Amino acid sequence: MKPFEFITAVDEHQALAAAARAKFLAGGTTLVDLMKLHVEQPAALVDINALPLDEVEELPDGGVRVGGMVRNSDMAKHPLIRGRYPLLAEAIVSGASPQLRNMATTGGNLLQRTRCYYFRDTALPCNKREPGSGCGAFHGYNRIHAVLGGSEHCIATHPSDMCVALAALDAVVRVRGRGRERSIRFADFHVLPGDRPEREHALEPDELIVAVDIPSTPFAVRSAYVKIRDRASYAFALASAAVALDVRDGAIHQARIALGGIATKPWRAHEAEAMLIGKRVDPGVYRAAADAALRGAVPRRHNAFKIELAKRTLVRALTRVGAMA
Ligand code: SF4
Repeated sequence: MKPFEFITAVDEHQALAAAARAKFLAGGTTLVDLMKLHVEQPAALVDINALPLDEVEELPDGGVRVGGMVRNSDMAKHPLIRGRYPLLAEAIVSGASPQLRNMATTGGNLLQRTRCYYFRDTALPCNKREPGSGCGAFHGYNRIHAVLGGSEHCIATHPSDMCVALAALDAVVRVRGRGRERSIRFADFHVLPGDRPEREHALEPDELIVAVDIPSTPFAVRSAYVKIRDRASYAFALASAAVALDVRDGAIHQARIALGGIATKPWRAHEAEAMLIGKRVDPGVYRAAADAALRGAVPRRHNAFKIELAKRTLVRALTRVGAMA
């Protein structure tokens, strides 16, 4: 590992003052791994674990605010999350291992980086790690790669489960820089690779994620997260679906759908949602929505199976949620 300066921030002011020349260290579950692999080589780390950003609280409008330093395991087991947003609690516990979830934070989860093999091996070409070096996966082995949202410069999948649920819930990311604060809609937080795959999100280098706000969504009590992977635990999604349905008298009034494991960012399926509105809960309706969700999918040499897999994953999630009382 390359030598680096280590700064322990005692407050937010100190953390932000160092931000321009350093990376924030929260749980370290992605960053430290990537430093060992020489993929990340920061000149300095700012340890932000002492910052008081570890609360989950109810907002006056009925939403929930989750601090940027709330550990994933604490978020998943919090009564406000478990009770109001089951899809989010399920998504979190489906990711990584208990030990990793005990360390990983809300902010860090939003910023976790792809598992693309080429990205993680500095001997191989990767536009995301080294802009202009080429995309090893595009003509290489791309079984785990994206069928939605890719470009000729990058087809890496976004690895987070939690973010898929947050995309479905229309979360808002609250960030703070020196002397300024702003909110970023979740849909705008992660960006498509286009011709600049090294840029993955809308956060500026000197900004800190202080919280994620989840709007009040009463019908999200009827929701689920379904994840399909190569083994039963401790594996990233090949396909996943976060679904919430507002069903009254057997008809769908509102729907929220986001997909994971198949796209370059947490993928909101607006077209599929629109197809469900006003329809009866029915397997045929679910399948039509799944077809709509994957309509723009582009298969690569080794990942065409993901298109049908994602459709079936979504149908399974819709079936589960549609059958809830
Ligand atoms: Fe790099 Fe993206 Fe290509 Fe993977 S898919 S090699 S992350 S540019």
